[in-house]
Amino acid sequence: MQFIDLQAQYRRIQDNVNKRIRNVLDHGRYIMGPEIRELEDKLAEFAGCRYCLTCSSGTDALLLALMAYDIGPGDAIFTSPFTFIATAEVIALLGATPVFVDIDEQTLNIDTGKLAAAISDVTHGTMPTATMQQSLTPRGIIGVDIFGLTADYDEINRIARQNSLFVVEDAAQSFGATCKGVRACNLTDIAATSFFPAKPLGCYGDGGAVFTDDHALYETVESLRIHGKGSDKYDNARIGINGRCDTLQAAVLLEKLAIFPDEIQLRQAVAQRYDEGLQHAFDLQHIPRDCQSVRAQYAIIADDRSRHLARLKDAGIPTAIYYPKPLHVQTAFASLGYQRGDLPVCEKIADHIFSTPMHPYLDEEQQSAIVKILAG
Ligand SMILES: *Cc1c(COP(=O)(O)O)cnc(C)c1O
Repeated sequence: MQFIDLQAQYRRIQDNVNKRIRNVLDHGRYIMGPEIRELEDKLAEFAGCRYCLTCSSGTDALLLALMAYDIGPGDAIFTSPFTFIATAEVIALLGATPVFVDIDEQTLNIDTGKLAAAISDVTHGTMPTATMQQSLTPRGIIGVDIFGLTADYDEINRIARQNSLFVVEDAAQSFGATCKGVRACNLTDIAATSFFPAKPLGCYGDGGAVFTDDHALYETVESLRIHGKGSDKYDNARIGINGRCDTLQAAVLLEKLAIFPDEIQLRQAVAQRYDEGLQHAFDLQHIPRDCQSVRAQYAIIADDRSRHLARLKDAGIPTAIYYPKPLHVQTAFASLGYQRGDLPVCEKIADHIFSTPMHPYLDEEQQSAIVKILAG
């Protein structure tokens, strides 16, 4: 059994993907070929957003979003500690300071009550840790849509407006999700997604995209993505990065996007079967009624995690732990001065959570076997 079965997906779209790839090899425009624009138009339309710019990875998409706001030393960016390192790594790369805010025990996304309090503290000069002595200016919030469930952007956007902050949506796991009928990547000032192969919409390498409705932000990101280009590549208006998406990856994504709506439905069916078999025995990530998670990962919270993991392993069923160690206690962020115990909810979740195989092509028989081992 596969944790994420990309081969099953490839078998479904093989002919079309091969044709698309061959087409790129024929026209030879490997960098910024015509598939890039075609994909960006389709992604923007899918998300319901005005502008989409593809780029080299989800990490670079986040980096470009922060660079577009000119983030640097002395700036505080508020985010969740229960996420992949990239979310906060880009903040630190720019010399800014990540301020971690604990998560909600039900949705596993940032706790908006604690977010408002954390912003107020920093605004009034109370630092999140004793190590952070320098005063910080609150600038923005990165909301993370963990496991494919959008964070509470109604509340996050309201808090941001009150404090004159911008909001970035880290939609690396949530492309295709909706909340109150609005798609992920269209819920905040600017959004970043990832096309890493294991994400809901993945390519065959690294890739990502930035989304916004704001024309000025769009123009800045377009420049930043290609070395801060001005009127052309050899006129440099600002310091940027080499952040383009490969034409070949765009070609693959065009074919994957064609079946993506169907795959989202298949993911819902898989998640529902898991829910039915497991909800009486475990705590599960709570999906609010007006949201549809794209179910990037299926998360289970268990008191005796190691016993369950061992039993699944004995049966040849792959599992994963997202995430065993929250970001505030990572060695990479030791200099921020956070201690274990500072953000108790995410620490507790990290000690008990695990994920079972989750992809659109997981069949009922495989799922019953997993459910039986866990809750039988
Ligand atoms: C995967 C991921 C990223 C980074 O995406 P890459 O394409 O791997 O660079 C950022 N944030 C979250 C929440 C992710 O899951």
